[in-house]
Amino acid sequence: MRVLILGAGFGGLELATALDGALGAAVEVTLVDRADGFVFGYSKLDVMFGRATAEHVVHRYADRVPNGVRFVQATVTSIDPVTRRVETDAGSLDGDVLVVALGADLHPEATPGLLEAGHEFYTVAGAFALRHVIDAFPGGRVVVAVTSTPFKCPPAPSETALLVHDHLRRRGLLDVSTVSLAMPLGAPIPPSPSASAALLAEFAERGIAWHPGATVRSLDPQRRVAVLADGAELAFDLFLGVPVHRAPDVVVAAGLTEDGWIPVDPSTLRTRFEDVYAVGDVTSVGTPKAGVFAEGQAAVVAAQLVARARGESSAATYDGHGICYLEFGGGEVGKVDVTFLSGQAPTGALEGPSRALAADKAAFGTDRVRRWFGRDWRP
Ligand SMILES: Cc1cc2nc3c(=O)[nH]c(=O)nc-3n(C[C@H](O)[C@H](O)[C@H](O)COP(=O)(O)OP(=O)(O)OC[C@H]3O[C@@H](n4cnc5c(N)ncnc54)[C@H](O)[C@@H]3O)c2cc1C
Repeated sequence: MRVLILGAGFGGLELATALDGALGAAVEVTLVDRADGFVFGYSKLDVMFGRATAEHVVHRYADRVPNGVRFVQATVTSIDPVTRRVETDAGSLDGDVLVVALGADLHPEATPGLLEAGHEFYTVAGAFALRHVIDAFPGGRVVVAVTSTPFKCPPAPSETALLVHDHLRRRGLLDVSTVSLAMPLGAPIPPSPSASAALLAEFAERGIAWHPGATVRSLDPQRRVAVLADGAELAFDLFLGVPVHRAPDVVVAAGLTEDGWIPVDPSTLRTRFEDVYAVGDVTSVGTPKAGVFAEGQAAVVAAQLVARARGESSAATYDGHGICYLEFGGGEVGKVDVTFLSGQAPTGALEGPSRALAADKAAFGTDRVRRWFGRDWRP
């Protein structure tokens, strides 16, 4: 069986590793990505706030221990979901099974003024460039804000507000600074009332201004204000924004999407095309856009493909479960264990925050790098 996986992020890496581990030479796995390395989403915050170097957090595909997976560094330029044939800038590829794990593309240019007057911290390049900007910031009005929904890792803006506050405190700049957080959601983490309450208490204690239900539509570079959907304005000296997310153009052009994202069977991750699956942020499966969910979906696709290769039937179905770590600042991390798709409203209780959970989060990254890249790493 030839499995062609598009995208070597959380979902693609997990799927390729699981298939290789279970089937070895019985399956031919090709993994395609335009990037030369993988970066955990949370590592972007580590680089921005000077907790890690850019070099330390990029896991180069070329450095993976050799295994049965063929990695092709190429940009996917077209996908035919009927024939499962894919064109790339390095030639054509096809598979008996196609798995689309191309994530969400980020469009800072879609928000007028964002690139001229502000900064986005969701792309690798944007987050890495912010390290020097934040380092040189003399203090002033900091606005952390979201420009559209859905967006990856809903806790990340709250974490960023707390980490920027930590940074200003460390630098002795709190007296001349304010921090505001504007999010389209009504609570910092809607599926976890206890995590939301803890974050709101932390914002209140630190004097971080919380603006729920607020989406930034544009930035005015002359007046240095962010304009919200309802016309209200937030003045800033440093704007840290979450850019507009869209499914990659190549996925839309392939006719795989409906209402912007790929619909899949939430139990099996199958698309409406035969032997074409989709996992992770590129789908509208019903979980938040986060790596842990992409990984869980990939594991279910792997179980189905392993069973098929062995001529067995698979009972593996996706349960929407994931663990989310939250940076609370001060070196402390909280943990929320949450299950979506169970037919009930998701709820996740908060554990922590604590330093012990910061170690747990570090182990999460270490485990994945060992599994996917075969090497030792500490975040
Ligand atoms: C600041 C921040 C913090 C985060 N923190 C967390 C966290 O703590 N926990 C968590 O679970 N998640 C977190 N996330 C979210 C997480 O990073 C994503 O949800 C996750 O990476 C999604 O996995 P994926 O496999 O669907 O897509 P991705 O990991 O985005 O992988 C998609 C891959 O497809 C490739 N690609 C796209 N288009 C093409 C093309 N045309 N040709 C070839 N290759 C292409 C990309 O290069 C990319 O490698 C965070 C995100 C951010 C931005």
